[in-house]
Amino acid sequence: MTQPTQWRPETIAVRGGYDGDSATDAISVPIYQTVGYKFHDTGHAARLFSLEEPGNIYTRIMNPTTDILERRVAALEGGVGAVAFSSGMAAITAAILNLARAGDEIVASTSLYGGTWTLFTSTLVDMGIRVRFVADDALSDADALFTPATRAVFVESIGNPRLNITDIQAWAALAHRHGVPLIVDNTFCTPYLAQPLKHGADIVVHSLTKWMGGHGNALGGIVVDGGRFSYDNDRFSYYSEPDASYHGLVFASLGEAAYITRLRVKVLRDTGAALSPTNAYYILQGLETLAVRMRQACTSAQSIAERLAAHPQVSWVTYPGLPHHPTHDLAQKYLREGLYGSMLNFGVKGGAEQALRVLDRLKLWLIVANVGDVRSMAIHPATTTHQQLSPEEQEMAGAAGDLIRLSVGLEHPDDLYEDLAQALEG
Ligand SMILES: *Cc1c(COP(=O)(O)O)cnc(C)c1O
Repeated sequence: MTQPTQWRPETIAVRGGYDGDSATDAISVPIYQTVGYKFHDTGHAARLFSLEEPGNIYTRIMNPTTDILERRVAALEGGVGAVAFSSGMAAITAAILNLARAGDEIVASTSLYGGTWTLFTSTLVDMGIRVRFVADDALSDADALFTPATRAVFVESIGNPRLNITDIQAWAALAHRHGVPLIVDNTFCTPYLAQPLKHGADIVVHSLTKWMGGHGNALGGIVVDGGRFSYDNDRFSYYSEPDASYHGLVFASLGEAAYITRLRVKVLRDTGAALSPTNAYYILQGLETLAVRMRQACTSAQSIAERLAAHPQVSWVTYPGLPHHPTHDLAQKYLREGLYGSMLNFGVKGGAEQALRVLDRLKLWLIVANVGDVRSMAIHPATTTHQQLSPEEQEMAGAAGDLIRLSVGLEHPDDLYEDLAQALEG
């Protein structure tokens, strides 16, 4: 197979990592719905287990269908390898656990997906890993948060819920100045809109559940490694010193494969949040249309954002494609030309009560706590995803009562806008 990294993303999304099944010549990726694999003999089995020879051992750590998904996403992001997980949250947890242990620390932006926020402020804390937060617009204060215990920096390429485009180069410079890798959650962009590894990020994570799969029918997550960060030093002693669970293997000696190999053979092996082969297939099928879906969804979101901004019942619109958005210039730097994502937030005149009335009048938009589906979805964060926060906290988190959040799908943009207009005017 020719090197998929030389292809454009449209081609990689359809053909990357797969050139027909070696056993059957099937051109659609087969679903290898198996747990075990027959060893040729006991010597073969022993060599696979000691990592002397590559090959399938057990579907918790590798599977031929999942392998194609991993190769395809690694090629789309320009990474050296990828490991898939059963959900985005499982991928984020594993990406962190491959770097941080009890007593260690992470530095993260405050603009985070809700599930990541509670992982960082609750579950990781219970495990003895402390996360220190910095607002994405206060990067100059961040140096003070680093200590000898810091192991990584974590940001999202488009922050929740302000839809701020992250200055990846600046965050990468910060992380590298302190000797740690930068992890970027690229879910809201997908590699079609932005490739964080090209701008200095070291590791990319995704919820494949959202735009990558795109059809709202399968949970999945993935970690892609750029292979450039060197773990061969005292800060990462569990890479630079022999690992007892692999007869003294020194992961750092694997060079650019150090992080991704340890992620699979240690973190995934021991914590077990493997993606099912059938879900890998659903996500691969969705991925084949990534480029056309993203183009249409972003174009529709832009047109709906512009029309909402001119509507008399709308008090404000947050969309990175509008010239007044605070990070419109960063969008031009990091995102594919003319595309600004398919999420938009707007406020209705009349506050929370009116926002709920507008949502209840919608006929085409679905009220759903998900994003990145072919179906367009709307939600009122203040009474759902951000319900537990006080009004002041909601305001600070960018989820005030008048806010309606939209995830624009693939229905005709005029139908989508007309439904919003009748609900606003009704
Ligand atoms: C949905 C989402 C996640 C979590 O993914 P799941 O697949 O739902 O576990 C993480 N980050 C972002 C930005 C998300 O949108």
